Amino acid sequence: MAVTPLIADLVVANHILYDQGVVDGFGHVSVRSDQRKDRYFMARNMAPSLVQAEDILEYDLESNAINAAGRRSYLERFIHSEIFRARPDVMAVVHNHSAAVIPFTVSAAPLRPVYHMGGFLRDVKKFDIRTATGRMTDMLIRDHDLGFSLAKTLGDSPIALMRGHGATVVGASLKEVIFRSVYTEVNARVQMQAMALGGAVEYLSTEEAELAEKANSGQYDRPWDLWKSQAIAARRKN
Ligand code: MN
Repeated sequence: MAVTPLIADLVVANHILYDQGVVDGFGHVSVRSDQRKDRYFMARNMAPSLVQAEDILEYDLESNAINAAGRRSYLERFIHSEIFRARPDVMAVVHNHSAAVIPFTVSAAPLRPVYHMGGFLRDVKKFDIRTATGRMTDMLIRDHDLGFSLAKTLGDSPIALMRGHGATVVGASLKEVIFRSVYTEVNARVQMQAMALGGAVEYLSTEEAELAEKANSGQYDRPWDLWKSQAIAARRKN
């Protein structure tokens, strides 16, 4: 498969997510194909930090790999296909188990915009796999139905928290989904610190959050360029 600019950016996105503490050995990022709306690209089953262009597989919206050639796929790839199917506006999806976010998946305390970088967090959905299925599971989105159920809960939001599991974040571009994934992690951490102080926490109002998100949406190149340069420097072979 040709290493297009989109594939090169997807490799960088994998590295950024690891460097910024959003993913560890687990978690994944996908991008919709710029050639076909019914295809997407994602790495084979491996740690995001180690992904190279040759590890990127192309998938249809059933999450069948077109060019697997024996390579394993992520078990939870149905998160990506069902969201791409349900949301024509979504061009990129990140699924992660970032540590700062997990408490908000199990607590009644909502994740909210605690500062302007988290403006998009004014609309956070919560997905409970037990409620959605009415049965006990291993918590993984391992088939079409579970992916569909998650996509339904996500609705038109930028993020769905998944109880006892993690989060799924979407964006209109790789740069947007990376921005949102990193700042979800940071906002969660900062919010817990604000809550730990014990006083009432003053969150951004809905209007402030909307205005802040609009302002940030013109700035995605800036953190991307920084994180990309760090990702390249960290992996340069001497
Ligand atoms: Mn997962």
